[in-house]
Amino acid sequence: MSKIVVLGGGESGVGAALLAKSKGFDVFLSDQGLLKDAFQQTLAEHSIRFESGQHSLDEILSASEIIISPGIPEKNEVVKAIKAKGISLISEIEFAARYTDAKIIAITGSNGKTTTTLLTYHLLKEAGFHVGLGGNIGQSFAKQVLDNTYDYFVLEISSFQLDRCFSFKPDVAVLLNITPDHLDRYEYKFENYIFSKFRIFQNASEKTTCIYWGDDEVIQQYLGRIPTAQQKTISFTQPEASAFIKDQHIEFKDGTFDLTKAPIQGPHNAINMSAAMLAAEAVGISLSDIKSYIATFQNAPHRLEPCGNWHGISFVNDSKATNVDAVFYALNSFKQPIILIMGGVDKGNEYEVLDSLVDEKVKALICLGKDNSKLESHFGPICPQIYSTEVLEDAIKKGMEWANSGDVILLSPACASFDLFKNYEDRGDQFKEAVKRLCHGN
Ligand code: ADP
Repeated sequence: MSKIVVLGGGESGVGAALLAKSKGFDVFLSDQGLLKDAFQQTLAEHSIRFESGQHSLDEILSASEIIISPGIPEKNEVVKAIKAKGISLISEIEFAARYTDAKIIAITGSNGKTTTTLLTYHLLKEAGFHVGLGGNIGQSFAKQVLDNTYDYFVLEISSFQLDRCFSFKPDVAVLLNITPDHLDRYEYKFENYIFSKFRIFQNASEKTTCIYWGDDEVIQQYLGRIPTAQQKTISFTQPEASAFIKDQHIEFKDGTFDLTKAPIQGPHNAINMSAAMLAAEAVGISLSDIKSYIATFQNAPHRLEPCGNWHGISFVNDSKATNVDAVFYALNSFKQPIILIMGGVDKGNEYEVLDSLVDEKVKALICLGKDNSKLESHFGPICPQIYSTEVLEDAIKKGMEWANSGDVILLSPACASFDLFKNYEDRGDQFKEAVKRLCHGN
């Protein structure tokens, strides 16, 4: 019996182990960290062998194929040993896709993946499709393939998952944008990360619908990698695009969508909505139906989420903005003066792209992190008022002191959250609670 080892026992790893077991493989799951009790129980119930708190190299290297969690970097010693031995190393996505005939819409990009994935899923669900949601979001794709109830999947795909995809061939592939992110995992070479993102199109055929944002300068440079047959472009500048965003409208080939009726705001969300709507059209939903379904969409929290109003000052939680580009779009989404709360763990950020927007729109910058020195020295000469703290409540209080009626206090950090918080959700939740407490005393 051929043996599959699963490295990493989170949602996707456990799902992959279950699918592999059901397909008759000898399965072993190994996690360097501690496995959640519920996962241990599931594995035991299915007689899947596992280890927690260590990686037994001999056992791992005896596999014929290894499914690796996207969280494990290439520089990991075990990964190096696997590569040296030449064992096939794949993602849960690559593995699970082998066992389903469902049509797949796969969405990637540096920013906007979750929003676009959730919206696309919403449109298909409203249209009555049997559709699953997976990838980087929600339940394991592999587990859902095993349950075999869906005709369609909408998958959010990260670059780490794409790095370990080889035959994966979505029916609709979406690339939203490419800006530097996670460079620590790509030898600090932007090009490596770009090629990773383009793997979403690597097996595209004449029948694959390839949707992308046509104004993205990086995507433009590598257009030759996208098959031309079913290209659908999104653009603010090219009237011939499949979705042409102009003023307050998106113009499609067969009709127009009024952006004043959109459930999510800002130019970046016009791109995300265009992508989701083109994907929904590609699987046969009419534009008039899409327009009625889109009205009931609610975005996930922590993405430009309004979370309070106090004496005319509005508070917005954009904790999910963990890179510079997301902050760029956040700043573009407001007309009013902004008090910006930024900071956390810097992933090699280059802040220059924000300079003119900060100069124009940000009246005060509040740095919230363990080490704020890079932010202070970069924005010091640009921003009239700067304050640094390690305490979230302090940051909000300072914002309230500096803000006038009509201003917005925006948490859009450009950084990861691990210095002061568990994760970006924890940072956003704590922000919302503190805003409530400080504004309304509860
Ligand atoms: P992802 O899943 O790729 O991280 P999200 O939908 O969760 O994307 O959004 C993450 C952050 O990026 C949010 O702060 C949001 O405001 C910003 N954002 C969303 N869509 C885009 C886009 N198309 N271009 C740039 N920034 C975006």
